[in-house]
Amino acid sequence: MGIKVCKFGGTSMADAKAIARVESIIRADKDRRYVVVSAPGKRFKDDIKITDMLYRCQKEAAETGSCKNSFSVIRDRFTEIAADLGLNFDIAAVLDETEAAIDAHADSPDFAASRGEYLSARVMAEKLGFPFVDATELIRFDSHGNLNAPYTEDKIKAKLSKTEYAVIPGFYGKDSFGNIKTFSRGGSDVTGSVIAAGADADLYENWTDVSGFMVCDPRIVPDAQIIRLVTYKELRELSYMGASVLHAEAIFPVQKKRISINIRNTFDPTAPGTMIVPTEKYVHADGQIITGIAGKKDFTVIFVEKSMMNAEVGFVRKLLSIIEHYGICIEHVPSGIDTLSLVIESKNLAGGVLNDIVNEIRESVSPDYVHVTENVALVATVGHGMARKSGTAARLFTALAKSNINIQMIDQGSSELNIIVGVANADYEKCIASIYREFFGQGS
Ligand code: ASP
Repeated sequence: MGIKVCKFGGTSMADAKAIARVESIIRADKDRRYVVVSAPGKRFKDDIKITDMLYRCQKEAAETGSCKNSFSVIRDRFTEIAADLGLNFDIAAVLDETEAAIDAHADSPDFAASRGEYLSARVMAEKLGFPFVDATELIRFDSHGNLNAPYTEDKIKAKLSKTEYAVIPGFYGKDSFGNIKTFSRGGSDVTGSVIAAGADADLYENWTDVSGFMVCDPRIVPDAQIIRLVTYKELRELSYMGASVLHAEAIFPVQKKRISINIRNTFDPTAPGTMIVPTEKYVHADGQIITGIAGKKDFTVIFVEKSMMNAEVGFVRKLLSIIEHYGICIEHVPSGIDTLSLVIESKNLAGGVLNDIVNEIRESVSPDYVHVTENVALVATVGHGMARKSGTAARLFTALAKSNINIQMIDQGSSELNIIVGVANADYEKCIASIYREFFGQGS
């Protein structure tokens, strides 16, 4: 029998109707053995996520000694879910225990927040008739608060090799002192990935409320296509540039084991979703050159020119060390023979820092010319297909020229995986839409 780890997000666990869908998805495939769940999320736009309510509980407990008022919302929500699912288990007793435990750990926001996933997993285990395995048994953080991956992997292997089916709460584990600690928000995705890696799963299914990653932001192109197949590397480029569906840290544990991730939609289970695969499993679809387009606004480009820059030993080091001295990250460094640009997020240059840096550059490397361009947006066009197909850059630049978009900077990664262009913030949306139209529009 194969092993699939299935993680269900907050919307999939939001109420009894959604949970019933989750049940039928799991029952449809015997390989869906390890189920990782989020806390119930929003049922409608202005609803409050259980996790947010639990942070309020902790505050109330810290301030007054009891989380009674805030907890009543959680109590009502889980009581309703259990009743609607027709569960024959004493949810009231579990809720009483949980409320008392939050009061007893009133100094720990992590403890309170973790209880959403805990309760969610208890309910799901009951509904499925699978054993509940607590994440504290499997997931361990080190003294710096990072995942202790080797220890965690050993624990998962030891436990799951003896457990055919299990429901496991997402989002939290135990720190090196034995206290409950959570990942950052959205961290159940990471739990799912860690469990899949530890269990040597055949597939990590991440069930959410959309049918996969879109080629670009649907707020810019409302009918953007879904990406069917994407490699880890492409996804890393797209997520870095702002595309989000999956927690950024969720990629690494499964990537190391070359396990694919399938993003699926609980509310449209027949949709194939997006498959995220290691490069060796990537199959080029006919005619597909570009996988996705993503971008971010608000960068500053510091352009430095000096003739014979290439012959000056230590020039680039000096320049970079000025920025390092300010503790600022540089996002990109496109360069020519006598020119170099530093691309930096504008928020890091506020409060006079930009001026100071420019002055230091003038003093330290005596450039012929320094020029600053603010309000720059970066747009990355990503796809392995580019390396196989000549003329991709020409098509992209022609499309932008036709839309009257001035390209302020070009950076093509040496892997031929992406082309990044810098354009004015004001042209950002138009730039993405033009690239989409060129490569995915009618008759492209
Ligand atoms: N419930 C947590 C959150 O809202 C973790 C998760 O859902 O992944 O961030």
